[in-house]
Amino acid sequence: MTRILLLGSGELGREVALEAARLGVDVVAADRYDDAPAMRVSPHRRVLDMTDPVALRALVEEVRPDLVVPEVEALATDELLALEADGVRVVPTARATRLTMDREGIRRLAAEELGLPTSPYRFASSVEEFTKAVADIGVPCVVKPVMSSSGKGQSTVQPGGDPLAAWTYAREGARVKDRPVIVEGFVDFAYEVTLLTVRHVGGVTVCPPVGHVQVDGDYRESWQPHPMSEQALARGTEIATAVVESLGGHGLFGVELFVTATDEVLFSEVSPRPHDTGMVTMVSQATSEFALHVRAVLGLPVRADDVAVDRPSASAVVLGTETGTPSYDGLAEALAVPTAQVRVFGKPTSHPGRRLAVALAQGDTLDEARERARTAAAAVRVTVS
Ligand code: AMP
Repeated sequence: MTRILLLGSGELGREVALEAARLGVDVVAADRYDDAPAMRVSPHRRVLDMTDPVALRALVEEVRPDLVVPEVEALATDELLALEADGVRVVPTARATRLTMDREGIRRLAAEELGLPTSPYRFASSVEEFTKAVADIGVPCVVKPVMSSSGKGQSTVQPGGDPLAAWTYAREGARVKDRPVIVEGFVDFAYEVTLLTVRHVGGVTVCPPVGHVQVDGDYRESWQPHPMSEQALARGTEIATAVVESLGGHGLFGVELFVTATDEVLFSEVSPRPHDTGMVTMVSQATSEFALHVRAVLGLPVRADDVAVDRPSASAVVLGTETGTPSYDGLAEALAVPTAQVRVFGKPTSHPGRRLAVALAQGDTLDEARERARTAAAAVRVTVS
């Protein structure tokens, strides 16, 4: 039996674990806290600090997986490189995991090595460097920790605003202290999309574009297919393909792009794993982004019909509002919405703003699908004890 070690057991990891199980794979779900979503659906679990290189190596040596499948960024990625050198297979590659663990590695690869268009940017490690970076880039600009997710520590400096507040916020919101911040020129995009891109035995397959809405750098709604001009789609496909070919290995990647009113396409970020905005693919595509990831990493084929979207589809998140152990009401109302489905992640603890569930729906139009997903999500009420 093939065994995978899932490093990160959140909601995305849970769907990967379920899809792996469907293909007869044995899953060991690891995370820094117990009872994480993927652990609740996997036969084996391990709790450890995955940023600790010694603990990570000990885990891999104990589990002896056929494949290590990272599902989060906060890992001891240098140790993954060492493990890979010792013959352990890391998905998609240890280098891809290392380069994408922070914004600096991937931004420099995309802009400086691959020559892809991005927003202008600077990195700053001190107040002096930061002040100069803001002056160079100009305002408005977006300030983010190099290591963070879900918009933590991210803010926009407006003309006349206080750059130092953005600096302090980014330093405090960082997952790892004393790392640089990135200052990016603000892109006045017409829309942003994720191109879920699979690198598999048969080549590269790009899924129809996923559009999304972010609030404070965190995803709230997504939908598929997002309409794009032929030219913008071709350019986006080119960028996504260049990025995944450079990162290498097999797996699904979430390539985030900004598209301007004049159809200019800018690369923003990439995750070498399923993307949160891609949760919509659980209803939109015959084969979800999670199933595609598993297929690719197992060396199994990906067909064109796997990624066909027959009906406009959408997702909308359910967030916690209080701290405590969550319970869910309103599922009957949510599921009374035509086509709606709900996925409750089963997180042991709710916090204000923490993503706890997602509603999914289809429609005759994108607007109808989005409206249904929003209505179903709003019907789910979270109470805590
Ligand atoms: P990120 O964590 O870098 O994906 O940023 C989260 C979200 O913040 C993006 O999906 C955009 O909506 C917004 N954002 C990030 N960077 C920029 C930028 N340079 N200009 C405008 N909006 C941005």
